[in-house]
Amino acid sequence: MSDTIKTDVLIIGAGPCGLFAAFELGLLDMKAHFVDILDKVGGQCAELYPEKPIYDIPGIPQVSGQGLTDALMEQIKPFHPTFHLGEMVETVEKIGDPLFRCTTDTGKVFECKVVVISAGGGSFQPKRPPVPGIEAYEGSSVHYAVRKMEAFRDKNVLIVGGGDSALDWTLNLHPVAKRVTLLHRRDEFRAAPHSVEQMRALVASGKMDLKLGQVTALSGADGKLTGATIKGNDNSVTEISCDTMLPFFGLTMKLGPVANWGIALENNLVPVETSAFETNVPGIFAIGDINTYPGKIKLILCGFHEGALMAQKAHRYVYPDKRLVFQYTTSSSSLQKKLGVN
Ligand code: FAD
Repeated sequence: MSDTIKTDVLIIGAGPCGLFAAFELGLLDMKAHFVDILDKVGGQCAELYPEKPIYDIPGIPQVSGQGLTDALMEQIKPFHPTFHLGEMVETVEKIGDPLFRCTTDTGKVFECKVVVISAGGGSFQPKRPPVPGIEAYEGSSVHYAVRKMEAFRDKNVLIVGGGDSALDWTLNLHPVAKRVTLLHRRDEFRAAPHSVEQMRALVASGKMDLKLGQVTALSGADGKLTGATIKGNDNSVTEISCDTMLPFFGLTMKLGPVANWGIALENNLVPVETSAFETNVPGIFAIGDINTYPGKIKLILCGFHEGALMAQKAHRYVYPDKRLVFQYTTSSSSLQKKLGVN
């Protein structure tokens, strides 16, 4: 069991609304840790539309999903938030008034006075390929993410998919694994052209295999995979031997563990009041796409406003004896000092 990480605020979800909340909390001297299931920050902006332009961020006529994420990261730098990426918050338990203990799926334990749920549409979860009986191998031979490359050393790995994840892991794992086979439905890839070129060069030099078709069946026993049946685009059926399969079929969003944290839910969203965006549990706030209230619209700019009001109320829990004086960043030298600009 790991040591408990103590912090003022735990922010669950590092999407744009969670990221900006760290800025508002930081201005009021509250330290934040983030946990996000994804291996990168930015939530939907970074995962679903990094290159698409957004036109309705106040004061910024046009910015891409990744551009907004990068700007938010720059903006919160002065407050040094800590990020725990590739981890999912599984439990949130009230242990004081208010004090919460939160645990992640990798066993990290946090203790915090305030929890901010900015979990968007919930957790991004991998899409499972339609292969009969695949569940029996999940977690042992079939994996939807690579947490540690070492786990794949000397394995006979079948990677399935044609996007960036499939290509990136093909290139990263090929020096570690015994043999890598990449399987895709067709000979066109949605991944970065440079990665596709590198993969083709490895195939041409005999260092890995590329197959076109789909997995129709798996063979093995007791969760140990021994091979996969591939139906080719020409209807041919072949067996390939593999002990590990990594399907990368994209992600869907599911509410996930938020449903088990003892807070009220309404149609898979978290109802909040609108003076501080607090849930029915004092000390637990919900901002961004995950919350609901009369008139709610799922826009990033609404989540930014919610984060600002949340921070004002959170201050009362973190510093019950301190009076909060409202200040502008333009004119407050103490805020400017915190931002490192004065
Ligand atoms: P998200 O961005 O969804 O981030 C939530 C994060 O929480 C995710 O990273 C997830 O992994 C993490 N998470 C969830 N559960 C857990 C858990 N249990 N433990 C740890 N982490 C967890 N909005 C606009 O304002 N303007 C636009 O032009 C616009 N265009 C869009 C275009 C597309 C294609 C899409 C899909 C959305 C668009 N949106 C736009 C909507 C906007 O992206 C969302 O409103 C915004 O991303 C919500 O931010 P968020 O921080 O609430 O959540």
